[in-house]
Amino acid sequence: MHLPWPSIPLGALAILLLFMLVLLQQVHIFRTRRKAKQREELFQIVTENAADMIALVDVKGRRLYNSPAYKRILGYSAAELGETSAFEQIHPDDRFKVLEAGRVARETGVGKRLEYRIKHKDGSWRVLESEASVVRDSSGNVAKLVIVNRDITERKRAEQQLEHNLYHDPLTGLPNRRLFLDRLEQAFARSRRDLGHQYSLLLGNVDHFKVFNETLGTAGGDQVLQEISRRVGASLRQSDSLARADAATPTPGAVVARLGGDEFTILLDTVGDASDAMRVAQRIQAAVAEPIFVDGREVRVSLSTGIALGAPEHERPEDILKDAAIAMRRAKGLGGSRCEVFDEAMHTRASGRMRLEADLRTAIAAHQFRVFYQPVVELSTRRIVSLEALLRWDHPQQGLISPYRFIQAAEDTGVLVSLGHWLMLQACRQLREWDVNNAAGQPVNVTLNVSPRQFSDARLASDLQDALRQTGVDPSRLQLEMTESVAAADPKLTVTVLTHLKHLGIGVIMDDFGIGASSLRGLWQFPLDALKIDRSLVREIQVDRAATEIVEMIITLASKLNLKVIAEGIETGKQVEQLRQLGCEFGQGYYFSQPVEAKAALQLMRQQLAPTRVTGAGAK
Ligand code: C2E
Ligand code: MG
Ligand code: MG
Repeated sequence: MHLPWPSIPLGALAILLLFMLVLLQQVHIFRTRRKAKQREELFQIVTENAADMIALVDVKGRRLYNSPAYKRILGYSAAELGETSAFEQIHPDDRFKVLEAGRVARETGVGKRLEYRIKHKDGSWRVLESEASVVRDSSGNVAKLVIVNRDITERKRAEQQLEHNLYHDPLTGLPNRRLFLDRLEQAFARSRRDLGHQYSLLLGNVDHFKVFNETLGTAGGDQVLQEISRRVGASLRQSDSLARADAATPTPGAVVARLGGDEFTILLDTVGDASDAMRVAQRIQAAVAEPIFVDGREVRVSLSTGIALGAPEHERPEDILKDAAIAMRRAKGLGGSRCEVFDEAMHTRASGRMRLEADLRTAIAAHQFRVFYQPVVELSTRRIVSLEALLRWDHPQQGLISPYRFIQAAEDTGVLVSLGHWLMLQACRQLREWDVNNAAGQPVNVTLNVSPRQFSDARLASDLQDALRQTGVDPSRLQLEMTESVAAADPKLTVTVLTHLKHLGIGVIMDDFGIGASSLRGLWQFPLDALKIDRSLVREIQVDRAATEIVEMIITLASKLNLKVIAEGIETGKQVEQLRQLGCEFGQGYYFSQPVEAKAALQLMRQQLAPTRVTGAGAK
């Protein structure tokens, strides 16, 4: 049987279908929105109540949302967070790390766990552990990042404390044996890599410490140890540190540690020689010697200190510790309250050097310096053209000391700059006096030596001007002698200083020329007046063909550069002849005269030098 379909018009059917479709779509939209809303509510509930700080940022890193935990952990209100840049609150050292993590998360879609520091509103730093995850848009592109930050400041602090305890002595807070050995190993390794690197170890032991424990009780003894550690630490922190009273470099890489009991070590990562370590030891000794008060009782403490230097014979880092211990026991054996260097020869040298430095500081005021003058003559006529001022130290116990023995120490202690100033004045006054007493003779010039440190000292020009002004000497009568090493160390500064001196009208001579490291280009750049050929070359011209050739080359070079040439250290007539043949115009040396005092120099000028040797006072 055929059941007929109800006859619905086709148009109505289409409308019905369309209606149903729209209905279905609306239901879908409604459900999706409801889900999204539910998700949002859930997100809200989770984030608002989470202990962690949750942030939503867009791909450019702009804040879209910060959970309330931010206020609790970092102290900023939501409004304040809106006004501040998240980036600026991050510790500068961690910013790159954070940026990088953001980039990786955006590009790979996978966040990485990361630790960074962020500033609390009160200015302190909090440590956060953070992890980012990405939120994609409908086309699958990363649209946002959800960042969950956990405040791990306390955990970090506890970890650091634990680590600190592992490496520090609980009584004094100083590094303990473990940390000390670690640093010692580093110094040892460095000295193996770099053979020129010198480190030193001081081992201090409190004299008769047992007595303090017995009389003050262990708690009192502990207080004494705490005070000693404080003073040892403080004396190393002093800015003039390694020791020379006026060198402004802080003690480089010094580690003070308590090895246990009443034993302290100081590792000096970089020292020049044993006298540097000795200076540190003496300063510590002095700091510790001040009275200590324990429960109102005054106690006096002293240390016996052993000093050892890193040496090639050491096979293991601990070997230096053994050396220092031997030296320390020697210090005890000699009555305590003193320091001893492991190597006795080194000890003698270091003590001598320290005594010399101490004496130097008072030598100017005690008028112990004298100036000797050595003539420079024109080889063809033997006429004196200038006099080189050479310092002598008339030491109360040691007699006349050569500048070779004290110039370096004077430079290291900073005494040389004031000594140089004194010498400038002295030489200029002398020049005036000679002018008056030798009015009939030819006027001479005076040359002064300047060391590297004097040369780079800003006071050089003003000290010179001051001396010239005070004495009324014409600048053209003054010449400075600098060595090649000065010029090689800093050619730019050299040009600046030399140009300034030239401007003042003062001449400059390159001293000890021919043995150092001057570059030809430098020589070309420097506004010099003369080259002084080093005396080792002059000595060798008689015996060594190569030396003669070098001297010849120097003379040719000088004539090209329009510089005068002076040969120093001439001791024989034969040398004079040879030098003249090579074209050298001026000379200086024992053959003409030793350095002599001002009065004798005047005599020489008056006589205009007979070619016999004039004997002056030498120096040891
Ligand atoms: P220098 O500037 O090269 O001075 C020449 C040195 O050679 C002087 O030694 C002089 O006594 C010595 N001498 C002179 N003629 C002869 C000779 O015929 N044979 C030999 N063997 N030696 C001779 P001195 O006075 O002991 O000075 C040594 C160095 O100390 C000087 O070398 C100079 O670099 C430095 N010096 C001296 N006085 C001063 C000063 O006031 N300031 C500075 N910064 N350095 C100075
Ligand atoms: Mg000289
Ligand atoms: Mg010289």
